[in-house]
Amino acid sequence: MRRRSLLLTGIAWGIARTALAAPVPVLHRDFVLVIDPGHGGSNHGCSSGLLQVEEKHLTLRIAQAVEALVHAKVPGVRVVLTRTRDEGVPLSERIAAANEAQADLFVSVHVNASPKSDQSGYETFVLDLESSKREVARTARRDHARGGSALNAEGDAALMIRELALRANFNKATRVAHAIQQSMKRQFPSRQDRGVRQGAFDVLRGLEMPGVLTEVGFLDHAGEGPWLVQPETLQVIAESICDGVLAFYKEHVHLG
Ligand SMILES: [Zn+2]
Repeated sequence: MRRRSLLLTGIAWGIARTALAAPVPVLHRDFVLVIDPGHGGSNHGCSSGLLQVEEKHLTLRIAQAVEALVHAKVPGVRVVLTRTRDEGVPLSERIAAANEAQADLFVSVHVNASPKSDQSGYETFVLDLESSKREVARTARRDHARGGSALNAEGDAALMIRELALRANFNKATRVAHAIQQSMKRQFPSRQDRGVRQGAFDVLRGLEMPGVLTEVGFLDHAGEGPWLVQPETLQVIAESICDGVLAFYKEHVHLG
């Protein structure tokens, strides 16, 4: 009986505490966005012989436009660009920069090309969940082998937590990817929506936060390429990417 009343007191106290508690901000610090302009330096990315424009220049222009838009629309945001000029940055450094910044979201910007120059449209990728889970398991086994011990219960628990985090980031990234695609569809109703897809992109591997890679259009397509390089087009594409960031922000950071 005494135990029961103690329990009830505990429950009542818990309810009272919950009722009195003020809303708690989801983040007690700035919202950190990392924008990754694909390629750079001697890594030119794709190109169009006719247009003499390279992917690395377009991705930087779009990333800088996204940065300006996000600063204007998202309060308390810190934006980190993995490169701010035409220089080569290894993928591992881009990932490390995002992890060190404790970013909340990572967006890699790319422009596409196809073998026969006959493809067009926009698509956004998230990291393939199954292959990234396999890689986490492989890394855990390798670490244990190095340490001279077999996987034990503690190792299993750590692995499970890592997998849960991967899945949570995958789900968040998928929602951001859909938000970008939906905004592109609104902006460009006549273009082909190639959808949200999973891919094994190295630049998304090892991120400790949700990450997406958006391919905004095909530079080598006879119709889409010349349109894609127009400054007005790049600006509208940047707005769509910003819409994806805003969707994430509203869902995970903003309370009011
Ligand atoms: Zn690319």
